[in-house]
Amino acid sequence: MRYVSTRGESPSIGFLDAVLAGLAPDGGLYVPEAWPAFTPEEIAAFAGKTYAQVAAAVLGKFVGEDIPAEDLAQMCDEAYASFTHAAVTPLKQLAANRYLLELFHGPTLAFKDVAMQLLGRLYDYVLSRQSRTMTIICATSGDTGGAAVEAFRGRSNARIVALFPEGRISEVQRRFMTTAQDANVSCVSVQGSFDDCQAIVKQAFQDDQFRHAVDLSGVNSINWARIAAQSVYYFTAAVSLGAPDREVAFVVPTGNFGDAYAAFVARQMGLPIAKVVAATNSNDILARAFEDGRYARGAVAATQSPAMDIQVASNFERLYFEAVRRDGVETGRAFRGFNTTGSLDIPPSALAMMRELFAGASVSEADTAKTMLSTLNETGEVVDPHTAVGLAAAARVRLESPTTPIVVLSTAHPAKFPEAVLAATAVVQGVPRGAPDLSAKPERFDRLPADAAAVKAHVRAFAGK
Ligand SMILES: *Cc1c(COP(=O)(O)O)cnc(C)c1O
Repeated sequence: MRYVSTRGESPSIGFLDAVLAGLAPDGGLYVPEAWPAFTPEEIAAFAGKTYAQVAAAVLGKFVGEDIPAEDLAQMCDEAYASFTHAAVTPLKQLAANRYLLELFHGPTLAFKDVAMQLLGRLYDYVLSRQSRTMTIICATSGDTGGAAVEAFRGRSNARIVALFPEGRISEVQRRFMTTAQDANVSCVSVQGSFDDCQAIVKQAFQDDQFRHAVDLSGVNSINWARIAAQSVYYFTAAVSLGAPDREVAFVVPTGNFGDAYAAFVARQMGLPIAKVVAATNSNDILARAFEDGRYARGAVAATQSPAMDIQVASNFERLYFEAVRRDGVETGRAFRGFNTTGSLDIPPSALAMMRELFAGASVSEADTAKTMLSTLNETGEVVDPHTAVGLAAAARVRLESPTTPIVVLSTAHPAKFPEAVLAATAVVQGVPRGAPDLSAKPERFDRLPADAAAVKAHVRAFAGK
């Protein structure tokens, strides 16, 4: 399997090279040269398989010849053994035709673990074979950093630098990063927003000299292995609800559009998905894009669902590329323009193609809190604010067929956002059984201005380069 850039100017590369590279040299994102697909019979055969087995089958399509099947299967087994629920990502029924897909049973209590636990093992696998040590830089809106630190800490062939926006993430989220004592971990509190952190990471990658000096790699949601790993639970959830003979709709709490785009990937591979609703908080760039065809950056507002306080949804470029029939020149023009002007108009034909699968819904702070309370009252479930954004959006979905099940992705455990849960429901949410108590552990992090040069100097010193 070969990977091409959405901007069409970089040569095609293999799976492992695409994973390690992050962004393509032309500034685009890697996507498969052609979409691999399953037959309906192959999808039906996932019924009754373990999560790790389905993961190995789905990922095998993307890995191609790069990793022998037995090695990939072993990595999947190990990655998903780190989850505390035997089903890994269990489905929970809330109402007739309404389900929660619980993605938070991994070590850092948010869905980022699903991909990151695999990614840590993939890096180990390839880097130890190449006798190479890479520096991973990661901007986090809260959960990616913890999941990445947990997946990479103590590994001998990678060091990890996590950048988080100062004061914009919850204490529990911060502690999942900053309490790691391993020498290969550096956490940086950046005096700016998540978009600032992400812009610094992009600049670091565009600086060739720096990139080579520290052997830079990225595990943000643009990393292809993360997208591929996230497409797996769409298969397991849909199959347990009757796919491929029955269509399923998904509502996805969205920030960087990684998880929602992974649903598109699953559909490209043959999974019958009726609709994907990208549910945003008041940072609604995606909801507006699907609504009125203008993808335009707004100011970032701090909300109860901080992992979605994002106004530049990096993976949207991948969907745009498909929607303009894989025209790399047009995609490059559009997103270079977006970087300078902060907005882009989606051509009508491309918008129509996007709307065949996607719809957007933006949920206010008040509705998010109300939904946490009503969900508790109606179902007995305490949900985190990101999941509540999804549930509130699901209440507005109108599908062609009322018998199509709607699955809302539950992206974090409520214990990760105890302040918001308490304010909305008066429930004091403790950490679940098996989770570590991080509240008493010492924290370790540096504070830096939102300035690429300062961060790069810090990373060079940390990497000893
Ligand atoms: C990262 C995150 C999201 C958003 O996922 P994207 O792939 O960035 O769209 C939603 N909820 C939680 C809890 C998250 O950590």
